[in-house]
Amino acid sequence: MKLLLVGMVLAAMLCDSAKRTVVAALLAGLDPHIAFELGACTRGGWNLPSYKTLCKQLKRLERALKKGEKAGDGTTVNLAWFRLSLLAASIPKHVAKQIRGGALDATDVPAWATWTKVDGKIVSADLVASLGYRSGTSTRDKGIFFGRLAHLVVACRTAVGNGDPRKVGFKDQVPPYILDIGLTKAGDSTGLKGVEVVFGAQKIAPNLKQVYADMGYTTKPRFKLPLHKANLDIFMDQPKDAVRRAKTIVVGRGKNQPLVENAGSYFPVWMPHRLLTLPKRLAPKAHAEWYAERSKYAWIVTHRRPDGAITLKCPQCAGRIRTKAKTANPPPRKPRKKNSSPAAPLVAADVKPGEYCCKGSTVTLTAAERANVQPFPYGTPAQKHAYTSRNQSENGIKGLKDENGLKTGWCRSVEHVTIEVGAIMLAVAYNMAIADKPENKEPPRPADPAKTPKAADETATAGEPSDKTATAREPSDDEPAAAAATGRSP
Ligand SMILES: [Zn+2]
Repeated sequence: MKLLLVGMVLAAMLCDSAKRTVVAALLAGLDPHIAFELGACTRGGWNLPSYKTLCKQLKRLERALKKGEKAGDGTTVNLAWFRLSLLAASIPKHVAKQIRGGALDATDVPAWATWTKVDGKIVSADLVASLGYRSGTSTRDKGIFFGRLAHLVVACRTAVGNGDPRKVGFKDQVPPYILDIGLTKAGDSTGLKGVEVVFGAQKIAPNLKQVYADMGYTTKPRFKLPLHKANLDIFMDQPKDAVRRAKTIVVGRGKNQPLVENAGSYFPVWMPHRLLTLPKRLAPKAHAEWYAERSKYAWIVTHRRPDGAITLKCPQCAGRIRTKAKTANPPPRKPRKKNSSPAAPLVAADVKPGEYCCKGSTVTLTAAERANVQPFPYGTPAQKHAYTSRNQSENGIKGLKDENGLKTGWCRSVEHVTIEVGAIMLAVAYNMAIADKPENKEPPRPADPAKTPKAADETATAGEPSDKTATAREPSDDEPAAAAATGRSP
């Protein structure tokens, strides 16, 4: 089994291929030391499977993964388990923990099998492949193709806001590891598979909180709802018609708070009329400024519940703006300090005398009502810049496709499971290549504590917690994992 896996990863890594002949050829050329460790070389001589046996064994593996079996410890051993176990092992643990953002995108995987039309129906040896549409890129023409879509979640940086609609910060810059990959028919709806691979990615990167996806996914409620229920933030673009449409809705159970909704942002009904919908034909700079100006009035997310519901707060009650309306629920008055920030600026508002800014300061939206809400109001420079993290998915696709595997003929099978296993192996090989780059290696561990006069060192630094001791201690978190991996007992 180990030998088969090594063969498949090598084929993906060295030849961008999932072909059986390539796996067999690479195993035949294994370094004797490695072959010995894997049991393919014994004192009695070489013990490699013949090409025929190899094909049979791989077929058995694929059949078992497709069917799924219960292992002794209760885990279901199936394709999802296989995929996530291998992908998790291909990403360094310390990086996986750091990942908070995931960029989702799909790319076409043309089938090797040909197809024809008989009586208006498509006939092909590949029973899963279907016709689909591929959007053009710089290297490929757009058009109809026959095959599958590969949906990928690629690790990306995390966006952090500080309340300024013009700026966004980024942290956790991580290499574009592929966190999960899943294949569907080319013509299948993308929503469900998108959800599946995002949750798969979350199993590998447990701190995943931000998802960046294009409108192929985000215009589908069945994509957004499960992710919002799991309290993930979705960064998205908005269709043109949604941007031009503002509607008044009533939200908040028992509160009946009327608000204006536009492209996933919420505003008071008294917001100046010129800020309701985007004026036509604005220059890029004026466009950004209009959104930044409007975001002052936005009800902003202040609280998230584990079930995916969010709390939004009125801009005036939050003290971000001041209008002639009475404040429904003013923030507690703090004793004025010398350096305290000045009161919020008085802004224009369509309010009648005696009117309140809102009905009780906050409203709660359920995961379903949250549909298009984003961490930063749509259209603001902060939101636009944050959304560029989605480009990381293109790096993942390029790494898997234009530079490496997934080229015509990479896999000549017509079986869906064989193609899926092959694609997983390509992703694993791609991740291993990233992890192997010198710049992505884990910082070197301090010298083995067993060899250094430990007690003396500790007394010397005790009482003065310097940066040096802090960094020296950190890697010890991973010690048990490393020990388990090398077979040592901790
Ligand atoms: Zn208010």
